[in-house]
Amino acid sequence: MSEGQHFVDAVIIGSGFSGSLLARILCSRGWRIVLIDRGRHPRFAIGESTTPIADLLLAELAHNYQLEDVASLASYGAWKQHHPEVICGLKRGFSYFQHERGLPFTDDQQHSRSWFVAASREDFWSDTHWLRSSVDQFLAQGAVTAGVDLREQTQVATAEFRAESHRWTLRLQGVGSKSARSETLECRWLIDASGGAEVVSRLVGNPRDDDWMLTRTRAVWGHFSGVGDFRPQAAAGDPFAGDHAAQHHLTEDGWCWMLRMDNGITSVGLVQPSRLPEQQSSVASAESLQQRLAAWPELSAMMSEAVLVAPEAGLQSSPRLSRCRRSAAGNGWVLLPQSCGFVDPLHSTGISHSLSGVSRIAAALLADSRSCSVLLQQYSRDVPAEIRWIDQLVAGCYLALPSFPAFQAACALYFLSAIGFEQTLIEQDAGGRLRNGFLGCHDLELREIWREADRSLQACSSLEQKQQWAVLVGQMISQRDPVGLLDPAQRNRIAHTAAPKHAALRP
Ligand SMILES: Cc1cc2nc3c(=O)[nH]c(=O)nc-3n(C[C@H](O)[C@H](O)[C@H](O)COP(=O)(O)OP(=O)(O)OC[C@H]3O[C@@H](n4cnc5c(N)ncnc54)[C@H](O)[C@@H]3O)c2cc1C
Repeated sequence: MSEGQHFVDAVIIGSGFSGSLLARILCSRGWRIVLIDRGRHPRFAIGESTTPIADLLLAELAHNYQLEDVASLASYGAWKQHHPEVICGLKRGFSYFQHERGLPFTDDQQHSRSWFVAASREDFWSDTHWLRSSVDQFLAQGAVTAGVDLREQTQVATAEFRAESHRWTLRLQGVGSKSARSETLECRWLIDASGGAEVVSRLVGNPRDDDWMLTRTRAVWGHFSGVGDFRPQAAAGDPFAGDHAAQHHLTEDGWCWMLRMDNGITSVGLVQPSRLPEQQSSVASAESLQQRLAAWPELSAMMSEAVLVAPEAGLQSSPRLSRCRRSAAGNGWVLLPQSCGFVDPLHSTGISHSLSGVSRIAAALLADSRSCSVLLQQYSRDVPAEIRWIDQLVAGCYLALPSFPAFQAACALYFLSAIGFEQTLIEQDAGGRLRNGFLGCHDLELREIWREADRSLQACSSLEQKQQWAVLVGQMISQRDPVGLLDPAQRNRIAHTAAPKHAALRP
């Protein structure tokens, strides 16, 4: 074991895409950064479906900090042109299919059992699914090239903060071998990009604060080869082929995601409510995804030839996905949004939330010390509030099941939030962005619509009442809905969301 000691500006824990991007940005402005990860790239990670918001934020970071290679990842076409070696999949939008236990999937002229919500009009400008092992490795390598000191298979063994000098003393410890090195270093900032490992909150005693969370779901997931296509009754009016989307296969109380990558890998996961403690424990059982999906004929057929290829250790699972810590920043420390909390994969909010965190933390840390302190206080309050808002938008969707129209109506509230936020990004409306917050979480009018809709949804006790509730929501949002999300004339085929994303991404 060898001992050394030196001083850096920040230690970032976690070299996923968010830790690596932030490390590179700070390094490009002269900061000395040590980026540590207990794993080694390429490593399996879940959380792959992006959105226009994620792409817009990525493009904005690339523009603000001159990250040319990162800019290419903001749309499918540019990605394939400039970095075909980094693996992704084509995501034209979100698709939803209502399956019934034991019955083949059927639909009608009105598409009353399926819903396509296109984000982009064409493949070139579309969103992507990220094969995270590939994307995260690429971004970590980008950070190293920019001068970041990346230490893989390393974790923090001890951490001590001295407020008077605003200095951390950290002991870093190698993992994976008995002869692993240990090293002591000092830094000004400790930044947590460890996601669900929540490393810094544990170190500084930032408590869990999530009893209030409405969304209580569990999930099991993995990467498969040989997953069959799902393109039922493709029609000329469909805005995209069903497989070129984040596919949501709805069951009576949950859903199965399928995200197809260009290399033949499909990310598959099953999300269900975790209402009772005894149900929670069953999630980690050895049952395969094939067995879990056997009750739905189309899902079963798609998975019949599928082979689990990652992670090596087998399917991963979580008995409860939702979590939240009290604060997102404190004396000498900052959490990326996913280290502060997470709700659920529905609506694919994780990547965009993380990128918005990278953007805000970078702006704060690179500002003068007075502004930095104000911005971090604001960030610390905002992130838990954003998690609460996402929780509210997600929980209603589960409550609306098994009614498909009610589920759509609940999703429409999310889409309105997303479209509004996208517009502030595209129009570079800094004031609107600040005023309304991430996904419109401070937008009082939107919040009032949600409150009213939630109150009446809570009162629904039958399927029929939920169907009526969907009609009511359609009326409530009609004035604010630029794309006719719930308009029957659209026949559940939404050609594009309102924002002309390509305008903001043009190189
Ligand atoms: C089941 C599920 C599905 C999801 N699906 C989506 C989706 O479709 N779309 C979407 O936008 N978001 C999704 N998310 C959210 C998404 O996963 C996160 O937003 C994203 O992973 C956050 O990235 P990150 O870089 O902040 O952290 P991570 O990707 O979690 O990376 C954390 C890094 O920290 C390292 N680390 C952990 N502990 C330590 C330690 N003690 N010391 C050092 N290093 C450590 C890990 O090795 C890892 O490399 C999903 C999340 C879950 C749980």
